[in-house]
Amino acid sequence: TEACLGAIEGAGALNAFVHHTPEIALERAAAADARLANGDAPAMCGLPIGIKDLFCTKGVASQAGSRILEGFLPEYESTVSQNLADAGAVMLGKLNMDEFAMGSSNETSTYGNAVNPWRRGNDDAQLTPGGSSGGSASAVAADLCLAATGTDTGGSIRQPAAFTGTVGIKPTYGRCSRWGIVAFASSLDQAGPMTKSVRDAAIMLEAMCGHDPKDSTSADLPVPNFEAALNGDIKGKKIGIPKEYRMDGMPEEIETLWQDGIAMMKDAGAEIVDISLPHTKYALPAYYVIAPAEASSNLARYDGVRYGHRAKLDQGDGITEMYEKTRAEGFGDEVKRRVMIGTYVLSAGFYDAYYNRARRVRTLIKRDFEQVFAQGIDAILTPATPSAAFGLGEMTDADPVAMYLNDVFTVTVNLAGLPGIAVPAGLDKQGLPLGLQLIGQPWAEADLLCVAHVLE
Ligand code: GLN
Repeated sequence: TEACLGAIEGAGALNAFVHHTPEIALERAAAADARLANGDAPAMCGLPIGIKDLFCTKGVASQAGSRILEGFLPEYESTVSQNLADAGAVMLGKLNMDEFAMGSSNETSTYGNAVNPWRRGNDDAQLTPGGSSGGSASAVAADLCLAATGTDTGGSIRQPAAFTGTVGIKPTYGRCSRWGIVAFASSLDQAGPMTKSVRDAAIMLEAMCGHDPKDSTSADLPVPNFEAALNGDIKGKKIGIPKEYRMDGMPEEIETLWQDGIAMMKDAGAEIVDISLPHTKYALPAYYVIAPAEASSNLARYDGVRYGHRAKLDQGDGITEMYEKTRAEGFGDEVKRRVMIGTYVLSAGFYDAYYNRARRVRTLIKRDFEQVFAQGIDAILTPATPSAAFGLGEMTDADPVAMYLNDVFTVTVNLAGLPGIAVPAGLDKQGLPLGLQLIGQPWAEADLLCVAHVLE
């Protein structure tokens, strides 16, 4: 813990940790020492970790990367961060992220962007660590903590993991409790670990997840021993390769990476099967209707009354002016864009044309996966992202849709509620990490981790 606190102090330029809690960390580390001395050592006893700013942590600033939650000190601890604390983990502080987890580059954060510790060859230009869990990815990649929590609504664990050469798993929807995590799109949001290795991910996921009566969508299922599943044996497993993920204009390096991954799986005795997920091309448009729709509803609670920031009012201003001014000041541009899109697609005149249609598309996407799994496919192998980490500012100057396209390989997994993992799989020509994604059957995280372990 002391070593990590020192590393964090020396790595301010990465802007990964945005709220520092060294006193809490040292206190918890001492408590962990005492537990170890008593021979009572839970799975993560004394391991220093970072917590994404989206998780409510009792008495510690939790702003979801937004100005509107300035000054908000939660009265409660999220179930996931509590589970980790119960397992002995030591929280070092809160990690940077895109505002309300909306983004793929950590550039919509009220704290300013986090920075990727990797560089393109000899080029000094700063790169994005990805988003929205950019602070988590940067901190793990730069050894500021041993692991971190992330959340993934459309790829926010897997894409930053791929951009920083780390491992990130989004479990099956319902595996981790969402209680105490600031809601973005409730039917898609899931928490998961971001770590240096698949083994660490298995250990941390086991500590994080489990049934929670406080979240009605949390599954009442036993938590498997994920680490025990890492036996290196994938002989006879069927790995599906979906032809729809071979996109036009995909860089050759990504295709090569994918082929290398396929070869590794084959060498390890897996059977490679060509599969089709025909509705893949509709996933991104459906996601960018459903996620903003749910966000516009979830973000209605930030009204200047209950949480965080309230605008200064002029003489004669009423409650409407208070809402308007607070929300105008408190939300950034991307959040406003999403609230407007969401409100529009949910409005009486357009509900059927957009929201309902997107929901139907979601069902078709889910069925695509069900059919493939019914054929006996154990896991699906795809690239995690369409490119390596891009430069800061490179995408924000383009139109917002260019940024949305980054999620092309990841959003299907959230729409179908499936587990997905990003594993570092090599470097591009400029020496930047690239990741592969494995998608598993519902609740089959143990199998998924086993396959991922062979790939890493
Ligand atoms: N980049 C996607 C978005 O902006 C995904 C975000 C996420 O998974 N939280 O919505």
